[in-house]
Amino acid sequence: MTNSKILIVEDERAIREMIAFHLSRAGYDTLEAEDCREARQLLADERPELALIDWMLPDMSGLELTRLLKRDKEFEDLAVIMLTARADEHDKVTGLEGGADDYVTKPFSPRELLARIKAVLRRSGSVEGEIVTSGDIELDAAAHRVSVKGREVHLGPTEYRLLKFLMTHAGRVYSRNQLLDRVWGANVYVEERTVDVHVRRLRKALTAHSAEHYIQTVRGAGYRFSLLDA
Ligand code: CA
Repeated sequence: MTNSKILIVEDERAIREMIAFHLSRAGYDTLEAEDCREARQLLADERPELALIDWMLPDMSGLELTRLLKRDKEFEDLAVIMLTARADEHDKVTGLEGGADDYVTKPFSPRELLARIKAVLRRSGSVEGEIVTSGDIELDAAAHRVSVKGREVHLGPTEYRLLKFLMTHAGRVYSRNQLLDRVWGANVYVEERTVDVHVRRLRKALTAHSAEHYIQTVRGAGYRFSLLDA
């Protein structure tokens, strides 16, 4: 198995090198860019699977770079985690709407960053055949069955689809509107609060198995499935 390749886009050399050090030690191949121009060159030449993009960069903001990449068919499989000193909810939402898969606020610990990276990389590779496993939850897509530590969880069809979508996109935050599009379908008219109702039911079903903590509310942004504590 080849190592995942990660591009670090950060103009502050000390931070960039610190991140590169910890990523290499965790077994990733790293690439470093100090501005967007260099980043785009490396993305085209080296094809990393994930880019860590700092918000504040000298030639273009990291948010603009993320938007550009997410609009480009060539990079549709690239995962993006934004790094930022901004802790505002508003900026968090803007970053996620710009297409970032996750968001890490400075200062962060290497451990936290590695956990986020793992979660984002996992979401593309988590489906093995028809069985999706994440934490204690196992979802059998062929049999439409969900179990926690071997005990079956009884879910309604919508809760099942919601859980399947969130599990196969673990780590990423989805707004109510995005969930309506992806789980209910773009042409179905339902109110956003319908999502809250089904999330509540899903959590209730998982509570009986002490697994409700995987379904997390991200204030002002939406919901996500995560193995990490909220
Ligand atoms: Ca910076």
